[in-house]
Amino acid sequence: MMERELQTICESFAKLEEQSTSKVWDLSAKEQAIARVVAEKCKYEEKFIGLNKDREAMRLANQALRAQNVKQLDHIKAIEEHDRALSQQLSLVRSEAEQATAAWQAAAAKLQDAQQRTVELEEQARVLEDRAVIATQALAERTEALAAAEHERRRTQECLDLANRRVSESERPPTDQTGLAKLCADYKALLKCPTCQTNFKSHVLLRCMHVFCKQCIDSRIETRQRKCPSCSEPFGAKDVRQIYL
Ligand SMILES: [Zn+2]
Ligand SMILES: [Zn+2]
Repeated sequence: MMERELQTICESFAKLEEQSTSKVWDLSAKEQAIARVVAEKCKYEEKFIGLNKDREAMRLANQALRAQNVKQLDHIKAIEEHDRALSQQLSLVRSEAEQATAAWQAAAAKLQDAQQRTVELEEQARVLEDRAVIATQALAERTEALAAAEHERRRTQECLDLANRRVSESERPPTDQTGLAKLCADYKALLKCPTCQTNFKSHVLLRCMHVFCKQCIDSRIETRQRKCPSCSEPFGAKDVRQIYL
């Protein structure tokens, strides 16, 4: 009986020891697991701290990006404002350019009209110049004809005066021989050249109708003193004609 109890107790003790050993082994495994968990916790804490640092850095970067974004938005607004102002200026410049183009086209049209008008006026001026030349020539011819008529009138007047004198002298009868001789000498003198008083009159100057001898007229032509000895009217070789008394 005692032996059986002792054996039971021994078996129970052995079971307990075995259970105790098993528990010890379990405890050791648990401690190892706890150590691993603690190590992992430390590792995760370090990672968490690192992640926190990263999050802070990202928060700061995000803040900086937001500030930069705000600045860029302001800059974009300013650029848009500037763009609107430039668009308004561009439309103004285009409007002014259109006005300037219209003004330039109007000026070009006026210039063309003025050039056309200038051509017409030049043509009219040429016509008027031609008329003026013709009128000047006609005036010169008329002046020359008038001068010739005046000379003719003076010559006719001289002839008339001379004829009147001769008529009045011929109407007075000579009283004696001396008077007759004088009258004869006067008539003879009328036939002599008034320049040399020697040769008889033989040639007339057609421009003034004064009469001289051929030698006196030839002498004047040769010495280029081509003026009438009586009235100083200029004459040429073609103005001399022979007369027959
Ligand atoms: Zn003479
Ligand atoms: Zn003369």
